[in-house]
Amino acid sequence: MNQINVTKPSLPDIKEVKKILDELWQSRWLTNNGKFHQEFEKKLADFLGTEHLALCANGTLALVIALQALRITGEVITTPYSFVATTHSLHWNGIKPVFVDTEKNSFNLDPNKIEASITPRTTAVLPVHVYGYPCNVDEIQRIADIYGLKIIYDAAHAFNVRLNGIPIVNFGDMTILSFHSTKIFHTFEGGAIICKDEKTKQRIDFLKNFGFADEVTVVGPGINAKMNEFQAGLGLLQLKEFDQNKEKRRQLFFRYCDMLKNIKGINFFQPLEGLDYNYAYFPILVNEDKYGMSRDDLYQKLKDIGIYARRYFYPLISNFPTYRGLESTQSSNLINATQKSEQVLCIPLYSELAFDEQDRVIKVITNK
Ligand SMILES: *Cc1c(COP(=O)(O)O)cnc(C)c1O
Repeated sequence: MNQINVTKPSLPDIKEVKKILDELWQSRWLTNNGKFHQEFEKKLADFLGTEHLALCANGTLALVIALQALRITGEVITTPYSFVATTHSLHWNGIKPVFVDTEKNSFNLDPNKIEASITPRTTAVLPVHVYGYPCNVDEIQRIADIYGLKIIYDAAHAFNVRLNGIPIVNFGDMTILSFHSTKIFHTFEGGAIICKDEKTKQRIDFLKNFGFADEVTVVGPGINAKMNEFQAGLGLLQLKEFDQNKEKRRQLFFRYCDMLKNIKGINFFQPLEGLDYNYAYFPILVNEDKYGMSRDDLYQKLKDIGIYARRYFYPLISNFPTYRGLESTQSSNLINATQKSEQVLCIPLYSELAFDEQDRVIKVITNK
C-alpha cells in the first residue's frame, strides 16, 4: 500500500507552469521585483483582504525582517509551542526569547500569563496562530496597549483565515506568512510580511534587498530575502486553486470529526462560530489513560503501515539545547504547552488525500 504523509504539496497544472518558465526564459528577468513579483504581491494582498504586503524568500526571513523593521530589541514574549523558526528569528536579532505557556483550551499563547513575564526590557509579543486557529487577539492587543508593546503574529499556518470577517493578517503590528512546501498555500519556498502602512512596507522592501533604497543609497544593514520570479509566478497559479483545495480539505476535516468524535481518549478542536478556518491541520490529542495507548505508540503503529503522522510540536522549542538554559523554560511554567506537546499528533490532511486513504488512517486510530 502506498505511503501516506502528513501532507502532500498541492501543485498547479504543469502546462501552466511551463508557460511561466517560457516567459522567464524570454525576458531573462528572474528576480528583483520583476513582473510576476509585482503582480503576485498585489493579487495576494487583495485575496487576503489586506493592503500593505511585502513578499519574502521564506517565512523565517520574514520574521527576522519584521523584527528589524519594527526595531524590536531586548526581550520578546513568545510561545514554546511552535516551529523552531519562531524563536530562532529572535535569536538572529540578538533578542532574548521569554517563553510563556499556552492556554488550557487551545494551542496558542495564553494572554493571562503574559503580564507576569513583562520586564522593563520587554518590547514586543510574538504569538503564533497555531494550526491556523486565531490567538486571543483582543486580549493580547489590550495588554500590548497597556505596556506599549508591539505585536508580531506568526501566521505561518493561518493563510486566509478570517475571524468574524476580519482577515487574520490584519491583527497586531505585523504578521508573517510562510509559503513553504509543507504549508497549505506554497511557492516551494516563500513568505510575506503584512504591515500597517506604506512607509513601513517600504522599509521592509529596503531591508529585504540589502538595504538598497536606490542604486547608490543603502539605508541600513539589510539582508537578501527577495522572492524570485519563479516563486511569484507559481504563487499566482496557486492562488487560483486555493478555494477549491480548501473545500476538499474541509470535507476531509469534517469526516475526521465525525469518525473520531466517539473515540474515548482522542480529543480535537473544531472551528468555533465566527471563524472562517482554512482546514490546514488536524491535530488530535491522545490521552493515554483513557485511550489505552500512548501518543508515541499510536504514532509508531501508524508508521508501521506507512502512515506518517507528525508530532507537531514536540519537543517544545524551550526544550532544545539552544534555549534550555533560559529561566523561562522551566516546565513548571509551561504546563499546558508541555502536556499538549506530549499528547499531540497531526494526522494526514491535504487536498489530494482520498477518502479511502483517510479511512485507512481512521481505522488504525479506532481499532486499537
Ligand atoms: C513553517 C513555519 C515557519 C517558517 O517558515 P519557512 O517558510 O519554512 O521559513 C515559521 N513559523 C511557523 C509556525 C512555521 O510553521
